[in-house]
Amino acid sequence: MRQLIAGNWKMHGLTAEAAAIATPLLDAGALTRDLLVCPPATQIAAVVRILAGSPVAVGGQDCHTETHGAHTGDISAAMLRDAGARFVILGHSERRQNHGESDALVRAKTLAAVAAGLTPIVCVGETDAERQAGRESSVVGGQLTGSLPDGFAGVVAYEPVWAIGTGRTATEADVAAMHLFIRQELVRRFGAAGEETLILYGGSVRPSNAASLLAVPHVGGALVGGASLKAEDFLGIARA
Ligand code: PEP
Repeated sequence: MRQLIAGNWKMHGLTAEAAAIATPLLDAGALTRDLLVCPPATQIAAVVRILAGSPVAVGGQDCHTETHGAHTGDISAAMLRDAGARFVILGHSERRQNHGESDALVRAKTLAAVAAGLTPIVCVGETDAERQAGRESSVVGGQLTGSLPDGFAGVVAYEPVWAIGTGRTATEADVAAMHLFIRQELVRRFGAAGEETLILYGGSVRPSNAASLLAVPHVGGALVGGASLKAEDFLGIARA
């Protein structure tokens, strides 16, 4: 199974910046890993146009549970799909924290994404305090149970909250232990399908640490925030 390198641009990217990040990806050449960029919603259609004909996929960063309706400011999975997105990040810790998203809401969004033909990337991960208290497995296990619907067919991203945007990366041993735990949970719940699920690692992935992180067993790729805003760094990770 090919690894997936997914870039989460978060709330970055006016028109010129989005073009500056996306355009060099056209010259990536042959890669052994798949690439995905998730621009802000306002830039999805433009980035899809820039990357047309290339193997680089485009995704959203969130979606609503409903297909349409009176939900001012929200965007449905069908709208993302209509704009050319193929993936959507769901349950990112910044949405769980800043928008109070619960596991149940993430599960409902995941169902909506799949119904619209998108591949969901469901994020889980413990806070620093939870890890200090030795609760990382129970927290992540609970998030998986609550956020993944029955029959889940998508991608999981393990993102320890304390490693996001901090420059602190989880150790290879910690990543190995957590990815093994997540794999076991996926197989326990989804059987053989759980063996195939890509489990991305996210949290301060850089070109300099990508090779070692991507070599850890059960790591199916990376979810990259800050380093995805420079095509050179993003491609450096993809080539690591
Ligand atoms: C993220 O936002 O998903 C992320 C992993 O960010 P960063 O790479 O900047 O830590």
